[in-house]
Amino acid sequence: MTGPMTTLARAGFWALSSASLVACATSKPMGDRSAAAMLSGETVVCESPVAAIRAGYAASRVNGCEVGGDGSFVLTITPEAKTDPEGKTINNSPWYGFRVVPRTDGAPVQVALRYEGGSHRYAPKISRDAQNWTRLRDSAVTETDDGVRLTLAPGAAPLFVSAQEIFSVAAHNAFTDSIGERADASVSVIGRSRGGEPIRQIDIATDRDTAKPYVVVVGRQHPPEVTGALALVPFVETVLNGSDLSRQFLDRYNLLVVPMINPDGVKSGNWRFGLGGMDLNRDWGPFSQPETQAVRGALERFHSGEDEVVFFLDFHSTRRNLLYTQTDAEPTDPPMFTRDWVAAVKARLPDDVYPFTREDRSNSGRPISKNYMYESFGIPSITYEVGDETPRPAIETSARIFAEEMMRGLIEHAER
Ligand SMILES: [Zn+2]
Repeated sequence: MTGPMTTLARAGFWALSSASLVACATSKPMGDRSAAAMLSGETVVCESPVAAIRAGYAASRVNGCEVGGDGSFVLTITPEAKTDPEGKTINNSPWYGFRVVPRTDGAPVQVALRYEGGSHRYAPKISRDAQNWTRLRDSAVTETDDGVRLTLAPGAAPLFVSAQEIFSVAAHNAFTDSIGERADASVSVIGRSRGGEPIRQIDIATDRDTAKPYVVVVGRQHPPEVTGALALVPFVETVLNGSDLSRQFLDRYNLLVVPMINPDGVKSGNWRFGLGGMDLNRDWGPFSQPETQAVRGALERFHSGEDEVVFFLDFHSTRRNLLYTQTDAEPTDPPMFTRDWVAAVKARLPDDVYPFTREDRSNSGRPISKNYMYESFGIPSITYEVGDETPRPAIETSARIFAEEMMRGLIEHAER
């Protein structure tokens, strides 16, 4: 097939997929850990003659549970803190996660989610095994004054219900371990979270005797932002996939990845913060938290001049797909890289597959990762935001194109 035919065929396929995925977005974040291991810490939070609601496992979240007069469950979902230490209201990212264990085969289970300190954002995802996830059909979700009411049909077997697929700390570690098996990879612990979890970096350098500039990729500062993690994985895999493009890129550049900055927040089912009660992406400057201090330590090689950094990406999620970037009036080295990268991706990625906007913002000076990296190194520094409900295959397709066009642009820059 010729190039244009391939593009058309792919566009048609995904357009079809997106339509069918409205009812059932399936995805399988990572790995094959058994549900039993995952369920460590689980307890019954309330029960009726019809079912029990269970939570307490990693990435679950239920803050209160009552059985109503009609036999339905009312779950209260609250944030880890209403405000950060500076008094700013917590971001509206109400994470929830629980398991419905039926007692009566076939009976539907009514569950109301009542949010305190936020409003409904995430379409419920359901799973039997916490590995394969489907979006609950919209007709089973009714919005209420303070949340939503779900009609669940677990049948005879337990059902996980979660704000997004569970992309656990263990799954992130499995991803890091899998890349760490490469001969050119070096995995190390750059620090520990407040709760004692390792913060790990992957350093890819095909020839450690030759100085090459680094691309730095980070993720999961915000616990519920699973779709950002679902983009980071194929992005990194594409850079390392052994293609001619990947080999040419790795001849000229190295890659540093910190895939999981907030493990405590993910384990706790937090809406936004680490265990220190801070938004970690408002701490790039103060570096008051152990997690951001770990990242700052990993960046020391660039501050000291021992190594050079050329490009920075931080993966997140929001309500739609977008990139927060510098403006073209703000000089970067490589010059105009963001403009050219976005144009190259747009030329390959149809809007009906993965619509996205570039939101260029003059540096606000707020201590977020992209501002810190731009101010420190003058490099293009971008927050890569993926929509909460973007069809999962489109997240992967687009991340691979973003990675390929980043490699092409940086190879061109190196040869100028
Ligand atoms: Zn975020």
